[in-house]
Amino acid sequence: MQSKTVSELLNQDILFQEVEVKGWVRTFRANRFIALNDGSTINNIQCVVDFENFDEALLKRITTGAAIQIKGDLVESQGKGQNIEIQVKELEVLGDSDPETYPIQPKKHSFEFLRENAHLRTRTNTFSAVMRLRSSLSFAIHKYFNENGFYYMHAPIITGSDAEGAGEMFQVTNLNVANTPKTEDGKVDYSQDFFGKETNLTVSGQLEAETYAMSLGKVYTFGPTFRAENSNTSRHLAEFWMIEPEVAFMDLAGNMDLAEDFMKSVINYVLEHNKEDLDFLDKRLADEDKKKPQAERSPMSLIEKLNFVTENNFKRVSYTEAIDILRNSKPNKKKKFKYIIDEWGADLQSEHERFLVEKHFKCPVILFDYPANIKAFYMRLNDDGKTVRAMDILFPGIGEIVGGAQREERLDILKEKMAAIDIPEEDLWWYLDLRKFGTAVHSGFGLGFERLVMFATGMSNIRDVIPFPRTPQNAEF
Ligand code: ATP
Ligand code: MN
Repeated sequence: MQSKTVSELLNQDILFQEVEVKGWVRTFRANRFIALNDGSTINNIQCVVDFENFDEALLKRITTGAAIQIKGDLVESQGKGQNIEIQVKELEVLGDSDPETYPIQPKKHSFEFLRENAHLRTRTNTFSAVMRLRSSLSFAIHKYFNENGFYYMHAPIITGSDAEGAGEMFQVTNLNVANTPKTEDGKVDYSQDFFGKETNLTVSGQLEAETYAMSLGKVYTFGPTFRAENSNTSRHLAEFWMIEPEVAFMDLAGNMDLAEDFMKSVINYVLEHNKEDLDFLDKRLADEDKKKPQAERSPMSLIEKLNFVTENNFKRVSYTEAIDILRNSKPNKKKKFKYIIDEWGADLQSEHERFLVEKHFKCPVILFDYPANIKAFYMRLNDDGKTVRAMDILFPGIGEIVGGAQREERLDILKEKMAAIDIPEEDLWWYLDLRKFGTAVHSGFGLGFERLVMFATGMSNIRDVIPFPRTPQNAEF
């Protein structure tokens, strides 16, 4: 007989048939009720054992965490809490689990504890729901781009250009780090390194994606990126996944339209396809919220927040307007912000971004036209000579979720900007070539995938939305 998944069984309408199912025991109650889960759904299937028909020794092995196989009849449930259940006829233990030492007991565990047991944490409801959503979101992303005429491009992970990430990169080398070859002036001789030059793990696939946009038209990358920033925050990982669309002949307004439509579309996808997991996470968050003091409680439930993003227009606000709002805001005047906003030109911190979204506009916000000197060199300079065509999308609870820009397509201005921050033209000769041969307006953005997963699941620590988080001092598993 062919095994069925728990999800398939729970969605059956033909009852009274013999079925086979495999999974892990969540609980075994009263020597009679097995709650079985196989990861296919948040829900367990109840398997009812008539203990008189089975060996006591066998029943002793039905412990939380054990892998078992069951054959039996799918019937309407006698009890409350589920519609259908399996009347067990055959029971086999595929893999025992020692109840004394199995870390995932049927009780509430702290997320810290589960991080230390990241190899088993997807056996809990919360983490299985989060990771199913992560999978679903990544499918929705590919689906959106595929349906909108984009090509999926794989940007290199090892990069020879360190123009972007000064100081935040992980070096890649196969030199003996205890005894590196030296040049005459005592520096490391990278000509003897694997690639004959200094190389790093990529911080972004954008520059390479631009080359593909300027030939294939509409492209996106979706791959791992790395940042050696030593900021131990709940929103930063050393290894994270980024989605970077890049489109030829598209200006900043088009970029905003694309980003908004894209974000709404992927969130709609999970609202439609991951209802059970979202309902579970929604309830989990509501329960968490109840424990907080009134003032810290979220005004919206998780699902309300997701609907809020899909149903509202993102408010488009220039950086200059935002600074005015922040300067005159209550928390600024009362010095409640950690970083007080005095002057035009200040970089916005997460507290400011969240104020704009959560308190002032009460909707997702796209900030654009930032001061040139707080943004990357490749962003297109405006005619005012001091702002660039950058845009950041700010979400409730998260702050910046997307960062993008119209790119500088004018060779002379790009060269000037590179010179001003000492990027040698030889390092990015191929990037400059795009401006020499058929240059055109083009734009794109980067979405940190884990920030999106955080938003969609209501998880508050980025370490809990990626299978095996890489953070300072931590690369277990
Ligand atoms: P932040 O100010 O939050 O550090 P950033 O300005 O460094 O972000 P970008 O360089 O614009 O971010 O990167 C694009 C997107 O990648 C960001 O909008 C964010 O969603 C995500 N991101 C950036 N750094 C990290 C990180 N260390 N871990 C996870 N996601 C990140
Ligand atoms: Mn950063």
